Amino acid sequence: MITDILEMGEQTTLKGQVIVLGSGIAGAEVATHLARHGRDVVLLESGREKFDLAIQALNDVTFLSKRHRELNPNTYYHRYLPPEMRGVSRVRQFGGTSNAWTGKWKYLQPSDFEARPWVPNSGWPIDFADLLEYYRSAAKDYGFGDLEAEAVRSEITTLRSKLTTHGLKMSSFYWEESPTRTAIRFGDEMRQSRNLRVVLGATATELQLDPTCQRVTAVTCRSLEGRELVVEGDVVILATGAFEAARLLLTSDRQLPKGIGNAHDMVGRFYTDHPKHHTGRMRPGSLAQQFADELRYGPKPRFCICFALDDPTQEEHQLLEHVLYVQPIYETRVQQAWRTLQGRSAYRDSNGPVSHYRVKFVTEQAPHTGSRVKLGDELDPLGQRKLAVDWCFTESDRRSMAKTLELLTQRFAESGLGTFDFGDDPPTLETMTDAAHQMGTTRMADRPEGGVVDTNCRVFGTNNLYVASSAVFPTGPSYSPTFTILALARRLGEHLLHSTSISTSSLCV
Ligand SMILES: Cc1cc2nc3c(=O)[nH]c(=O)nc-3n(C[C@H](O)[C@H](O)[C@H](O)COP(=O)(O)OP(=O)(O)OC[C@H]3O[C@@H](n4cnc5c(N)ncnc54)[C@H](O)[C@@H]3O)c2cc1C
Repeated sequence: MITDILEMGEQTTLKGQVIVLGSGIAGAEVATHLARHGRDVVLLESGREKFDLAIQALNDVTFLSKRHRELNPNTYYHRYLPPEMRGVSRVRQFGGTSNAWTGKWKYLQPSDFEARPWVPNSGWPIDFADLLEYYRSAAKDYGFGDLEAEAVRSEITTLRSKLTTHGLKMSSFYWEESPTRTAIRFGDEMRQSRNLRVVLGATATELQLDPTCQRVTAVTCRSLEGRELVVEGDVVILATGAFEAARLLLTSDRQLPKGIGNAHDMVGRFYTDHPKHHTGRMRPGSLAQQFADELRYGPKPRFCICFALDDPTQEEHQLLEHVLYVQPIYETRVQQAWRTLQGRSAYRDSNGPVSHYRVKFVTEQAPHTGSRVKLGDELDPLGQRKLAVDWCFTESDRRSMAKTLELLTQRFAESGLGTFDFGDDPPTLETMTDAAHQMGTTRMADRPEGGVVDTNCRVFGTNNLYVASSAVFPTGPSYSPTFTILALARRLGEHLLHSTSISTSSLCV
């Protein structure tokens, strides 16, 4: 069932076997999976069905260095969103940030999990094979088409081999026609479920520990209207996004003064995003013309491709993985008439004559302890300390970005893909925006000194607290993190079904 904290009358406590915080893609996925398998689940969601600016403001942070994009009703970039949401990086609403996202699903590549000797702190403690079955089952259930078959389609393999000779690589992502909104995808199931109880308007403010400080016994939550609810459970899953997962661990400091899972001062560190630049243009060359239909972005749903320097080049020049997207921009009627008057033939794909390609350059950030979120001094309307975000870069980020751009520019031209024009806005870390991909604040590691969660996403030092989020990504080499968030959430759901930490005695009351 779905209820609101305000509808709970005098009730101030609730019990479930599993408590999930957050109803975005990660939370909805793991909560419904466990409920379908007979577990009693309480899902606490800060937001409500409608977007509410007062609730959204609970996400406000203080920026200590580089800022994120800002709410901007007039921006052209997020025109598909209602004006009040344009420019958000995270959404506090039932369904979370899926209410705003664009629906591009991309696998990480096997090499993305490997440590690169020239990138300190790189490498995941799990590998691609550990996620493959979850990527596959998610692709099947969500109807993404077969990404593995797409990777070996003959046009794709032909284009790939032509690019390989120029030191370039390419990979595919699936772009949905209508982006999955979890409130829509899971709403009816949640309403009808007998053992999943969703409580809206309920912001978790504290994780309560037992006397050993190793077990979370309850979650306190509050609403902006002053209601309070304490929810007890056997297992707690933080699916609140990377910032709020770290914030909850840090603000829960009554019993452990440094916060939960923070014995080694790792919570909130290693914060990375994908700084991106999207105002460049590409004039297409002969190879682009030959494969113009492969470069299309529409009609959706479809597989699209993106480009990067190949792995040997990255290794040789000690570079991070930066990705380049080219989107066809079609001629307007006036441009078509002008070209015809000049007697020039059109460059076209099967959607129409292409004027140029818009270039989006998306960068990986080297993971480092200095880029972090921590508790600031300002309080939010619930009296919780706001996050202070120190999003900062290393010299290797700057060097890697500049060198990659230089090599991509050369190799795109040599291969016949096209020539770039960045005009008076060349990509620099100073002018690039965040990509709304917060990662790494509770990174996965094989030992507590190296991170915040173990390979099963359990918070070190606890035996029943888990994180389902890109917060656990040790590195974020590829754009589009959400397919991996989903795969990890599925994997966590399966892990919990087979673990003994969920008792069979407690019931939703
Ligand atoms: C404009 C835009 C476009 C994007 N496009 C893409 C794309 O094409 N491909 C891609 O891979 N990614 C994309 N992303 C990123 C993607 O949306 C996120 O990676 C993904 O939605 C994160 O899902 P999540 O479940 O981890 O977190 P969220 O969806 O952010 O969910 C967190 C939930 O927790 C709730 N919450 C927070 N704090 C609390 C609390 N204390 N108590 C209770 N509840 C709480 C929030 O209200 C929210 O519902 C885009 C993002 C934006 C903003």
